[in-house]
Amino acid sequence: MTQKILRFMQDEIAAKSEICQLGGRVLHHFSPTALVAELPDNVDPTTLTESSAQPSQPLDAPTQLAVTAWTSQKMSSPPKGDGLPWDSPGFSHPKKTSVPSVPNPSGDRSEIQTFSTDTPTSLYMAGPVAVGIIIVSRNTGLENITNAESTKIIQEVQKGLDWLIGLEPKAQLSIVYDIRQVTVTTIPGAGVIGNLESFEQGWRDDALIQITNIPGRAGSLQYVNDLRTTRRTAWAYVAFFTKYPLGHFAYGGGERLVMSYANDSWGVDNIHRVFAHESCHIFGALDEYTPCKCEEISGHLKVPNHNCVACTGTHQADCIMNINSLEMCTFTRGQIGWDERLFPRLPLGSIQHSSTALHETGDDFEFSLASNKDLFAIKKQGGGTNTTEIHVLSAASNYQQFSLHTGTALHLTDKSWTFAVAANRDVIGIKKNGGASNSTEIHVLSAASGYTQFSLHTATALHVTDENWAFVIASNRDVFGIKKQGGASKTTEIHVLSAANGYTEFSLHTLTSLHQTDGSWAFAIATNRDLFCINKMGDGNLSTKPQELPSTEVHVLSAGDNYRSFDIEKGTALHPTPLNWEFAVTSERNLFGIKKQHTGSNSTEIHIVDFYSVTSEASTSRLKTSPD
Ligand SMILES: [Zn+2]
Repeated sequence: MTQKILRFMQDEIAAKSEICQLGGRVLHHFSPTALVAELPDNVDPTTLTESSAQPSQPLDAPTQLAVTAWTSQKMSSPPKGDGLPWDSPGFSHPKKTSVPSVPNPSGDRSEIQTFSTDTPTSLYMAGPVAVGIIIVSRNTGLENITNAESTKIIQEVQKGLDWLIGLEPKAQLSIVYDIRQVTVTTIPGAGVIGNLESFEQGWRDDALIQITNIPGRAGSLQYVNDLRTTRRTAWAYVAFFTKYPLGHFAYGGGERLVMSYANDSWGVDNIHRVFAHESCHIFGALDEYTPCKCEEISGHLKVPNHNCVACTGTHQADCIMNINSLEMCTFTRGQIGWDERLFPRLPLGSIQHSSTALHETGDDFEFSLASNKDLFAIKKQGGGTNTTEIHVLSAASNYQQFSLHTGTALHLTDKSWTFAVAANRDVIGIKKNGGASNSTEIHVLSAASGYTQFSLHTATALHVTDENWAFVIASNRDVFGIKKQGGASKTTEIHVLSAANGYTEFSLHTLTSLHQTDGSWAFAIATNRDLFCINKMGDGNLSTKPQELPSTEVHVLSAGDNYRSFDIEKGTALHPTPLNWEFAVTSERNLFGIKKQHTGSNSTEIHIVDFYSVTSEASTSRLKTSPD
């Protein structure tokens, strides 16, 4: 059994680390100074030293709001309309909306649509999630939101999220709040019935400009991407609450949802349920009331909508996507990614080893991890098809089966080539030298064609490169060129080729806090663009478990400040990995090691190391910014 406790702290990392070490976890991060943790019943909270039951300093306004809301939660009788279908007479139903397009690298919408949720910022509901709550109040009139009403909103949001957290402990949901109370002077406009944007645009853009300086969808995307980067979460989305007239009382899609304070006939006491419903839309769930379609598939795992009333009739299971009830059906669970394949697997600090269905591999193979953790083995030479081949080990089979073996449109390749898998499973080939363009070239094998066609051949703004360069691909397909040595800055440098500009321009050139590196280093990129720099031959100076032993060490350069500082540097539970190892990082920030040879199992092995969630050494190892 467990207990749920509110804690206050000054050192966020130390407090979280202590909670993890005691076998607990953080459920709600209200702010850097307040959180709600779950602890095993046998832990006496008074023994915690890194956090306290009462604040030791005055709280800032958003923290105070969250704490007041949490501490004044009470058990209440079921709210109005409890158990009624969302489309009951006399009530309105919460909507799913499609999202307006934003420009993408190739200038069309094809890439955007390949994301199951229309956005890469919320593919499935597991792990740490940042939630921006923007309460938009007018300075005067009926649209003004009082502090008591803001407290009610936060309380309902907490209640909805707490329900989701508790509903599936294996998803290890951990919510990071960013609460904004924004006051605007927007005059309520005359919205056009049927046009949500016409009601929303004025006050929303005035609020977004205060926060990001960017109106429209670009502003909300910028905001959630910033949240994901600065709060280091796997996912992020934003909820707008307002009393301004809306085209519909609640709707959500893409990276954001919009709700009216009054919450239509359902009333304010049902905000938590409507908010949970819309949050499920954000992570891929479909409505289950008329006109839902049973055969429609949705979510990262492409799950059909078989609890839609059209196929269940009166046998429909109670579910947040069809009725006003705190229940969830199997199909909704699947659509939001609640499935063994996507749950963060590891207990803290552990290593998971596994053999795979692939024989031992050499330099003729290169590996890349897809967003669903399928492992792409790219066979550059020696395959039966006389092309560069793709062999996919499926995560669903725990790497015991292949989901694809195929030749490709690409000829045999050598060490002048390196590869990565994009979010839509396109395979991006980077030709470092020897191309006709006399630059580093990019050649994209399209997943949609079964890798039989290229969707892009291009020269880039980067000159030819050699073994001093490594490459990783961000989730938006930006190509990160990592210059390990020989740069003017005498550091490991990062040069980012921008996908939005067709790789003809750089969006970043920077030195980093990491000294020059060599072949004993590997690089991988996290979903929030943090760069994991892996020292395969760590000498033990950073290694603390056990203290004196060398290990594979990880130095995480923080995207939040353009790689000028380390988010964390520490040894891992993995021994030094001199040869025959490649590395990736999972969306839960676990280190994913691929051992290619001399494995003992006669197969290529995977070793997944829970690196990030054990941060007890962070504060001390941080002092050392330049490892030798
Ligand atoms: Zn809905």
